[in-house]
Amino acid sequence: MVAIHSTARGPSLGGCRMWSYEDEGEAVRDVLRLARAMTFKAAAADLPLGGGKGVIALRPGTALTSARRRAALLDFADTVDQLDGRYITAEDVGTSSRDMTVIRSVTPHVGGLSRARGGSGDPSPYTALGVLAAIEVTCERQLGTASLQGRRVAIVGLGHVGSRVARLCARAGARLIAADIDPAKRDVARALGARWMTPAQALEAEVDVLSPCALGGVLDSEVVPRLRCRTIAGAANNQLAHDGVADLLDARGILWAPDFVANAGGIVNIAVELEGRYDPRRARARVRGIAGTLRQIYDDAESMGTTPLTAALELARRRLTKPA
Ligand code: NAD
Repeated sequence: MVAIHSTARGPSLGGCRMWSYEDEGEAVRDVLRLARAMTFKAAAADLPLGGGKGVIALRPGTALTSARRRAALLDFADTVDQLDGRYITAEDVGTSSRDMTVIRSVTPHVGGLSRARGGSGDPSPYTALGVLAAIEVTCERQLGTASLQGRRVAIVGLGHVGSRVARLCARAGARLIAADIDPAKRDVARALGARWMTPAQALEAEVDVLSPCALGGVLDSEVVPRLRCRTIAGAANNQLAHDGVADLLDARGILWAPDFVANAGGIVNIAVELEGRYDPRRARARVRGIAGTLRQIYDDAESMGTTPLTAALELARRRLTKPA
């Protein structure tokens, strides 16, 4: 299935998620929710793109043979093609750039192709670069300087993005804490000179920066009172269990970089690919633009007396009413 939430600023873009759902209703709710989130992410990043999402829903416990997986991707590609460019797909949870090559054999409306095929390749390094920019601006605003030299940073989730954020922070002189549910990631932490903790300990560690880089929903009304960080900026999508958590963070004096702004590096990178003649230097320069967007959001939040979440949503809404 494909959901298109908005094409007000341009064709809708959103990854194709291949995931197990209990029933069709659950898959529909997911694709609609994710498509809406993409609208706000693209608009906040000032991209000429709208919000959409694809889902290939699997039955729980089904393992696809490679022939059936390919068939499912080709069916999905037919659906994308019928939309005639109003929806552009890309990789997401459960799909890879190799899958995008399969889809590309049917339709041109695909982003995130491998570098070997002239695409922008793995988005994670760009997402990590954007998260670093978000961490620095958030420190600048909250702690007076953007420098990470000597700052204590806790990274929860050492996956594709988190391990790269950790490396960038280490290079910038930060003192790291790292956590993951996968004990194999302990080696990654050791190589970076990070102190290893359980995810629960890292979430509540006394640090300058908490960087959630695993799954969503980590910040809720039970966790927030126990936090001992001064700022939060990370890659995970949907970090807040619900929007009201932004007020709880604000009341505790913790500055939170809205996730859909901080983690937009991957989509910015794909936007550069869609412009044609992909150039990684141009992509990096654009991703660093996340710093300027976030500064504006913090300024707006201060002048409107509101939270960064409300200011970020307002900025996206303003951009949605004017063409890119
Ligand atoms: P990934 O699967 O490579 O890494 C996730 C890591 O988190 C894994 O190492 C996993 O073991 C760990 N993890 C899972 N549950 C955990 C928990 N409860 N506590 C601690 N660690 C846990 O994923 P990724 O590509 O690095 O993405 C990380 C997050 O960033 C996701 O929320 C993703 O949606 C978001 N994101 C990623 C990109 C991208 O470019 N990959 C772009 C935007 C947003």
